[in-house]
This record gives sequence, structure tokens and C-alpha cells, in this order.
Amino acid sequence: MMSENEQIRYQRQLILPRFGEEAQQKLKKARVFVAGAGGLGGPVCYYLAAAGIGHLVVCDRDKVELSNLNRQILHGTKDIGEAKADSAYRTLSNLNPDITIKTHNITIDDITIAELANGADIMVDCLDNIATRHVLNWYSVRTGTPLVHAGIDGWHAQLALLIPQKTPCIKCLFGEAKDTTEPKPVLGVVPGIVGTMQALLTIKHLIGDHSGGNGLMYFDAGSLQWTRISIERNKACTVCGSNN
Ligand SMILES: [Zn+2]
Repeated sequence: MMSENEQIRYQRQLILPRFGEEAQQKLKKARVFVAGAGGLGGPVCYYLAAAGIGHLVVCDRDKVELSNLNRQILHGTKDIGEAKADSAYRTLSNLNPDITIKTHNITIDDITIAELANGADIMVDCLDNIATRHVLNWYSVRTGTPLVHAGIDGWHAQLALLIPQKTPCIKCLFGEAKDTTEPKPVLGVVPGIVGTMQALLTIKHLIGDHSGGNGLMYFDAGSLQWTRISIERNKACTVCGSNN
């Protein structure tokens, strides 16, 4: 049963075709782990909290800096110097106090991931480095937890729903690619668009709507074109391949 408050808060999506109270209950029961509260994590967390995801777990180890604010919309000027985890908690609990939000100011590694993502129905990759993506990927494949990946590179972005043993994993996609150290160029609206798509993919997966989420979606913010590229599993993948 939904409370009167919930009936009102979610009224406009409850009347949506193929959504309704059944979908709302699925969102309420869902647990989502969001890795990163930066440019992608902002729209992801905003829209998941607004939609009524029952249990939202967010992790970011960084502090808010002035140079974050062109794109990291969870945080404001007054939050500079504070942990992004604390700033994110304030913003999201103000938006929706009826859901459970847990934010963590720790490093995601092989040990902490098991605690952070414990019981998650789906995980969202809002990271800015490949090394931590591999940590997320390893946990995703090992536990069979779907992962919504996105990455931004200047005017270009990519996005994919990765389902262990059904689709490629991060390792299949990235291979041996390494992180670079220099700051990557980014206009805030690009992770805004792509993070919003991640939230949509997450919600659709949770309510059992599996249409339209196949392949790697590639966004060119220069030409405003989306392209869908089919992606295949690497049978020799050291993470999801059959030899592991
Ligand atoms: Zn793989």
C-alpha cells in the first residue's frame, strides 16, 4: 500500500501508461548503488531519488571544489570544502525525505565494494576513472548484478546497460585501457544528458521494461546525434569469459 503522501508525490508517473502502482512498488523495494556523486552521479541521484527508489546508496570520496561546479549539480558554492557524500545527502534528502538514502565518503576498492553494493538490484557507474570501474565490474560479474555504465570524453559520451553473462562487461569493452592524469574537458550539460539516460535505463530495468536498452549508445554532443553500436562479449575476457 502506498501512503497518501506517496500517491500525491508520484501522481504524475502513476498515471503513466505501462507504469502505474505496480512499477512504483518495484521502485520502492529497489536498492541502487551509485558509484560517484559528480557530473554523472548528480542527474542519476536526482532522478532516482525523485522517482522514489526506496534505497539509494551513494559513494564518493572527494570533497567539493569550485572547479566541480560547472557540472556537479548536487553541490553548490556553500558546499565547497565539504565531503561530496555529505553535500549529496543534504540535497537528496531535501528532494525526497520518504526514501532511504545512505551516502559514504570512502574509497571504492575490492573490499569496500562488497559492503557498498551489498543487496543492490543494479549499480550505476558514475565514475571518472577506469581503475575503479574495474572494481565495480568485478563485483557486478561475480554477483550477477547489472551495471549501468557511462563515460564522458569531451563532446563525446557512451552509455550501456551491462548484464553479466548476457552482455559484454567493462573489461570486454575497455580491455587494457589506462587512465590519464590530466583533467578531462567537460561541459556540464553532457554528463547531465547522459546521467539522465543512466537514470532512465536504471528505472526501466527495475520495473521490468527491457525495451531499447541494447548495445552501446554513443552520444555526439557536437552533432546532437545518438548512435547505437552493437557490442559483443570477449570470450577470452579475464573477468566474464568462460575460463574464469
Ligand atoms: Zn568481460
